[in-house]
Amino acid sequence: MRLATITNWAYGATVALTLVSATAMLLASSAQQRERDAVAERYALDSATSHADEDVDTLSGLARQYAVSGDPADLIAYQREAGALQAVEQRTAHIRDAGAGPEELRELHDAMRWADALQVQQRAAITARRGGDRTAAIAILFAPEYEREFDRIRASVDHFQDRIDQRTANALDTATSTSRTWRGISEGVLAATGLLFLAVLYFVFRRRVLRPVVKLSDVVTRLAAQDYDAEPPRYEQIDEIGDMAQALRVFRDNGLARQRLEQERDADRALRDLLSRMTQRMQGCDNVADLERVIRRFVPEIVPQLAGRLYLLDRERNALVEACSWLDPRCSAPEFAPTACWALRRGSEHRATGAAIDVPCAHVAPGSDTAPESICLPLAAQGGTLGLLYFELLPGAALAEVPDAHLKMLAENIGLALDNLQLRDALRALAMADPLTTLANRRHLEAVLETLSVTPERPASCIMIDIDHFKRFNDEYGHEAGDVVLRAVGKALRHAVREGDLAFRYGGEEFLLLLGGMHVDQAVARAEQLRAHIAGLRVRFAGRDLGPITVSAGLANAPDHCQPDQLIQFADAALLAAKRGGRDRVVVAPEFPATSNVSLGR
Ligand code: GH3
Ligand code: MG
Ligand code: MG
Repeated sequence: MRLATITNWAYGATVALTLVSATAMLLASSAQQRERDAVAERYALDSATSHADEDVDTLSGLARQYAVSGDPADLIAYQREAGALQAVEQRTAHIRDAGAGPEELRELHDAMRWADALQVQQRAAITARRGGDRTAAIAILFAPEYEREFDRIRASVDHFQDRIDQRTANALDTATSTSRTWRGISEGVLAATGLLFLAVLYFVFRRRVLRPVVKLSDVVTRLAAQDYDAEPPRYEQIDEIGDMAQALRVFRDNGLARQRLEQERDADRALRDLLSRMTQRMQGCDNVADLERVIRRFVPEIVPQLAGRLYLLDRERNALVEACSWLDPRCSAPEFAPTACWALRRGSEHRATGAAIDVPCAHVAPGSDTAPESICLPLAAQGGTLGLLYFELLPGAALAEVPDAHLKMLAENIGLALDNLQLRDALRALAMADPLTTLANRRHLEAVLETLSVTPERPASCIMIDIDHFKRFNDEYGHEAGDVVLRAVGKALRHAVREGDLAFRYGGEEFLLLLGGMHVDQAVARAEQLRAHIAGLRVRFAGRDLGPITVSAGLANAPDHCQPDQLIQFADAALLAAKRGGRDRVVVAPEFPATSNVSLGR
């Protein structure tokens, strides 16, 4: 029930009870008045009746006194008293006025008349006494008949008095009882009104003040402890408590907003830390395999709602080839053409949230109508497209929850790392390659030799090749012609290598072939083959035939001739022997351990 209804009812009840109480008070007061009236009437009747009684007594007493004494003074007193006596109606008039009823008065009238009749005998006695007959006078007044008559009068008066007393006592009792009853009712109703007022006051205080204040105090305590689950109660009343509840709601809303912001900021900071750590690790990557490990470790933590794949662009085949994946993506082909991806076509992120909403990429669930919600992010750097980051939504996750900014940062960082790696590879290739012949250079050779391991079953042969009288090409046809010759010999070497072989430009017009797993005989055959091939080359420059190109070659084998780190030294020695031996030939290094005795072989 609403508070206003309760207070209205309580107010109405209080007013009604107050009216009842006031009425009862008035009735009690009127009963008290009746009580007072009854007392007054009784008093008036008592005094009036006692007068009448006294009159009878006095007359009878004076008559008897005169009869005994014969004193004229007594006679005078009697006569004066009898003269003063009024008629019966007059004597009872004031008794009637005092409230006696006709029935009651009738009895008194009878008594008065009997008293008057007694006066006849008194007068007879006085006459006798005046006549000197004292005895007769006394006999009359003290006769038993006189006494009986006198007692009868008295008894009547007493009876009248008793009746009056009885009636007035009853009236008094009734008035007293009525007055007491109404007074009791009035006091009871007044007490009930007071109690009702106190109950309503307590109820209103409890409902409107005490309970809200306790609730608000509890909410304030919890909010102070940053427990924003505490919801301030809604009090629509327009007073200080309503204002306080409203202020607490505003405070809580602000606190929640601040907490949400802090959580978002913390989550964002944690993600940025993670991204920063990932970037640092990526910067330390030496090759793509390292990079893949870093990506598989960090990306699932940065975007746990998404499974994904990393694709790298294979420029030679013009295809995106899967390098690694995480969280088991179900869709997207392991290899596809760049045109199969909208992100690569447009050069920006592509979110395909279902075929009904957007155009799904052809590489996602090829052949299926129900493409999953996916995100493709092109990996690009200054050098153009490097690859693609493909994400697909894991079951139960929502694409909208994935922060776009973090994905972009991820793609940028991975793209940069890839670009760095490719740049480093390119620089390394540049550092390891000879620009003129595009063969690997001497530095590369040294790096290879550092890790070269040989066994009798898997030996390694090294052929050092030097163009004979190369200076002549420079001198006769110019430096550029010499370069053309160098390129032609380099090309011949590149074509001569099989799997496991490596060709190097050692320096100047010297070249080197490292033949893995090749025994001396096979290596000699290969060297002869190469020498013959070069000798057969016809190189032209500026329309002129530069003439035949011959090379000398020195061959060494590990472990047949030397240790792997001595291969160059031994091959060089053999080459020197070939030069000394007349050039255009292949010389094999002397058998291990004899290093001085170089044998010639053709
Ligand atoms: P030999 O038969 O004894 O080896 O005589 P050679 O002329 O081939 O050897 P020599 O050491 O006398 O001359 C080598 C020349 O190769 C000297 C150098 O100017 C020239 N040369 C070195 N590097 C290059 C290059 O990159 N391009 C050109 N055009 N010439 C080069
Ligand atoms: Mg030389
Ligand atoms: Mg030479």
